[in-house]
Amino acid sequence: MKNILVTGGTGFIGANLCHRLINEGHRVICLDNNYTGSIANVEDLLPHPNFSFVEHDVIEPWDCEEPLDYIYNLACPASPPFYQGNRSIFTTKTCVLGALNMLELAKRKGARILQSSTSEVYGDPIEHPQPESYRGNVNPIGIRACYDEGKRCAESLFFDYNRHEGVDIRVIRIFNTYGPYMNPEDGRVVSNFICQALRGEDITIYGEGQQTRSFQYIDDLIEGMVRMMENEDGFIGPVNIGNPGEFTIRQLAEKVLEKIPTGGKLVFRPLPSDDPTQRKPDISVAKEKLGWAPTIALNEGLDKTIAYFRKAIGK
Ligand code: UDP
Repeated sequence: MKNILVTGGTGFIGANLCHRLINEGHRVICLDNNYTGSIANVEDLLPHPNFSFVEHDVIEPWDCEEPLDYIYNLACPASPPFYQGNRSIFTTKTCVLGALNMLELAKRKGARILQSSTSEVYGDPIEHPQPESYRGNVNPIGIRACYDEGKRCAESLFFDYNRHEGVDIRVIRIFNTYGPYMNPEDGRVVSNFICQALRGEDITIYGEGQQTRSFQYIDDLIEGMVRMMENEDGFIGPVNIGNPGEFTIRQLAEKVLEKIPTGGKLVFRPLPSDDPTQRKPDISVAKEKLGWAPTIALNEGLDKTIAYFRKAIGK
C-alpha cells in the first residue's frame, strides 16, 4: 500500500485515477479546488477509510501531515473554453505555481512525483506523428499559450528539480482522452458531439472538420500513467501516452451520428485560432520502456462513453 496524493483528483482523469488507486488498496488524498472538477465524481469514495478529500488550490503552497510515496500532479483546467479567455492567467499560474508547489512538497516528503504534461507542448506540430524528441511549434503569444507554455514551463521545472534537487520525477505527455467522468459541459469535442447527439441538437464542427486528433480511452491512459509512476528502472520520461488511431473531426462527428441517429445535422462554426491541424502520438518509447500500448479502439470506447453520458444527462 502506498500513500498517494492526486492533485486535480475530482476532475475527469483524476477521478478515474482515484477509483483505480483505491481499488488497488492504496491510501489516496484527493486534492482539488473543484474549478472544473466535481466532488460528485468521487462521491462514492468519500466514505472509504483510505480516501480523503482536501479542497485546495495548487497555486497556493500546501503541506501534508501524512507521509507521501507518490504525487500525481494533474491539477489544471484542460478544456480550451475553460483554460482560455479571462481564465488564462489563472491557467498559467496553475501550471507553473502548481508544479512548483507540488515539487517542493515532493522534495520535503521524499516522494516520487508524476507530471501530467500534454501533447499541447508540441503546439501545431510540423513533424507528424510526434515523437518525444520533437520540440514543438507553439505560438507563445496566442490564446492557447497559457496552457501550452504553462505546461512546457512545468516540464522544465520538473527536470530542473530532478537535476538540481534530486527529486524523483516522472513526466507523461497525454494526448486527447475521453471517457466516463468527463463533464458534459466541458466543451471538448467528444463530450460535445455525444451530448449534442443525445439531446437531438446539431453537431458543431469548428472549421471544416479536416483537422485530426488521436483519441485515447481513459482506461488506457490510467494504465500507462500507473505503469510510468511505478516503473523502477529510473525512466523519468517524457513519454507520450496516447492512441495513434488518427481521425478527422468530421469522421468523429459521423461516427457519433452512426451510433446516435437521433442527433441533428452537421453545422460548421469558425475554427478557433491556433487550433492544431493534426495530432498523433508516436508511442515507440512507451512500448519499449513501459511495455504499454492502448487496447481500446475508438468504436468500443465511444460505446462506453455514450452509455455514461446517457445516464449523466438523463437521455
Ligand atoms: N471541436 C469541434 N467542435 C466542438 C469542439 C471541438 O469541431 O464542439 C474541434 C476543435 O476545434 C479541435 C478538436 O475538435 O480541432 C479537438 O478539440 P478539443 O477541445 O476536444 O481538444 P484540443 O483542441 O485541445 O485537442
